[in-house]
Amino acid sequence: MNAVSDSTATATTATAEGYVGRFAPSPTGRLHAGSLVSALASFLDARAARGRWLVRIEDIDAARVVPGAADQILATLEAHGLHWDGAVRYQSRRLEAYQDALERLARQGRLYRCACRRGDYASARYPGTCRDRSIGPDTPHAWRLYTQGVAPITVLDRVEPPLTEDVEATVGDFILHRRDGAPAYQLAVVVDDADQGITDVVRGLDLYDNTPRQRLLQGFLGLPHPSTLHHPLVYATDGEKLSKSKAALAVTRGAESDHLVRALAQLRHAPPHELTGAPPEEILSFAIATWDPARLRAVRP
Ligand code: GLU
Repeated sequence: MNAVSDSTATATTATAEGYVGRFAPSPTGRLHAGSLVSALASFLDARAARGRWLVRIEDIDAARVVPGAADQILATLEAHGLHWDGAVRYQSRRLEAYQDALERLARQGRLYRCACRRGDYASARYPGTCRDRSIGPDTPHAWRLYTQGVAPITVLDRVEPPLTEDVEATVGDFILHRRDGAPAYQLAVVVDDADQGITDVVRGLDLYDNTPRQRLLQGFLGLPHPSTLHHPLVYATDGEKLSKSKAALAVTRGAESDHLVRALAQLRHAPPHELTGAPPEEILSFAIATWDPARLRAVRP
């Protein structure tokens, strides 16, 4: 009971003046219908709270970054009237900050080198093979976080039911710095959410089960826990998540109002028919004025 009541405060949105939200796309391709829904949900939640809305390009996974995709995503957001505050942040320019955080965790004795390759263990949970091996700096290695003895973490989301996870039992010691030299998403996201003063994370439900790991890291690094809202995902008709679906259509230029109306309908905020074909800004004003995240609770694929 304690875990739940202790974190109740994180389930409510920050006060209007303090709200800072973000949309954090990975530039692995064009913005698709599913990511437009994410962008829209975080934008509306921020604007309805009279808060700031930031855009952060999560481009640290060099193997997956598609040249030109970041610019395309930004142009698509603007064409849809989704104007962000301040400068766009690029994670590829923040490697030093992630390294600093990694070193802080290393000084706390929380990391170890891991020489395993993905195929070395069958389970989704890392079995801790390298915990007791002494791997030298010259062996190609990743850095993992010790998770043994960590208490179960309860996340209270603004939309989803509470999530309690024993990180050790579920994912085990997870990677913070990859063998290829790139910082892991879990590390970069908590460092930047804190550095940018993010109070509210609004993103797709597929990322909900990452939240306990992020809470754990925030605790070890002494960083605040942003409140979270995980919105339902958009599915293609065959039940596959849209972003993963081969059928996922990139959001192309020229039909922005229609895209917004469709995305709003997915979020249970369909505008009245009179707004069909209206300029994006008009549709968005209506959506900001009527934004009610409680409606998302009723959406189930
Ligand atoms: N970059 C992640 C993605 O595109 C989102 C990360 C986040 O919102 O925490 O799926």
